[in-house]
Amino acid sequence: FAAWPRSVVHSSRQTFPPVKRLAVKDRKRILVTGGAGFVGSHLVDRLMCLGHDVVVLDNFFSGSKLSISHWGGHPNFELVRADVVETFMVEVDQIYHLACPASPKAYQHNAVKTLKTNFMGTMNMLGLAKRVKARFLLSSTSEIYGSPEEHPQKETYWGNVNCVGPRACYDEGKRVAEALTYGYHRQDNVDVRVARIFNCYGPRMNSSDGRLVSNFIVAALRGEDLQIYGDGTATRSLMFVHDLVTGLIKLMSSSYTDPVNIGTEDEATVAEWATLIRDKVEEMRDRGEIALCVASDDEDGEEEVLGEGEGEEEQEDKLVLAGLERPRGRRSEIVYVDAVVDDPPRRRPDTTRAKEVLGWKPTYSIEAGIEETIRYFSAIESESASY
Ligand code: NAD
Repeated sequence: FAAWPRSVVHSSRQTFPPVKRLAVKDRKRILVTGGAGFVGSHLVDRLMCLGHDVVVLDNFFSGSKLSISHWGGHPNFELVRADVVETFMVEVDQIYHLACPASPKAYQHNAVKTLKTNFMGTMNMLGLAKRVKARFLLSSTSEIYGSPEEHPQKETYWGNVNCVGPRACYDEGKRVAEALTYGYHRQDNVDVRVARIFNCYGPRMNSSDGRLVSNFIVAALRGEDLQIYGDGTATRSLMFVHDLVTGLIKLMSSSYTDPVNIGTEDEATVAEWATLIRDKVEEMRDRGEIALCVASDDEDGEEEVLGEGEGEEEQEDKLVLAGLERPRGRRSEIVYVDAVVDDPPRRRPDTTRAKEVLGWKPTYSIEAGIEETIRYFSAIESESASY
């Protein structure tokens, strides 16, 4: 169900993904702020399936009701439209605090609001944790390391952040969120966990928020050029979202209170990621596994979607009928555009601590994760092309 298309329709006899029956003593009441976002919605799925009671708090700035709509009406699930910048009261055992836009496009849209979300929002949630004695987990980020002088980055590294640049609202926002978390921990004995998350990808990423994987997949599916900012030598280590969710739950369940890096050590350059993703889209298209979108000559100018599972010949026939010699989307070029200000040149976590204290390591291969994500975006693209 993680890759359910957005158009899931509920009937009056609604069915839900399978939910475990937990003994009352094992069942937790859990608040997930930002639970309608990309990572949050997967976390909500997992917690629901494990049998817990889940409250989602979200202002839908960068998240969507549709990403959790399959839980609407379930007795263990509640959705609250609210902003973490305002105080909020609920009796819970655990708080996963994820609310904060995560893509540069989204968090730079209103830098002051991003700072308020990180400072006031985190303070409010820590205040709530203190009041109701809940365990609190902060979703921090590798961005707190800034442009790192240490590689790979260990949790003991203090970072190298530009505090006045366009990314400061996010990087410094998360740094103050961490400082607040340890302030409440030392001063008020709040039971805290801090996950420093490295780049993560998967189904339900927003296709237009400018993140690397979604940008490349969507461009390749549409037959557009894959744009690389800079010369393509910057590195990223990409983790599949299901691995991240496992790491967050393991961290919350552990007794470890210092920050823990959650990420993969599969480091590659942005140019290598672009090539891998483009080639994978082509390979899956050639296998007839994903739909092929072609520009049609129809008067209404709508795009035509060639069916999934159609053979190469049928697809070629349709393309000829559509007046195209070669499928649009067959081979996208990789092009280089101006670098983005303060884009970190290298990113790779040292995950020794996660292995030692949580027994966590990523299990999804890049191949499996990227294929699942391509299938998701292909379904989304086909859906929007057919309206
Ligand atoms: P996302 O933008 O998809 O989700 C963030 C969610 O928070 C959205 O649903 C949004 O509507 C909600 N939100 C934002 N501001 C809010 C506010 N003021 N009040 C209430 N809700 C608010 O981002 P994501 O990728 O799911 O990231 C989730 C968390 O993980 C973020 O805290 C982010 O910093 C952290 N993180 C993510 C990554 C990654 O690669 N995805 C990497 C590092 C850290």
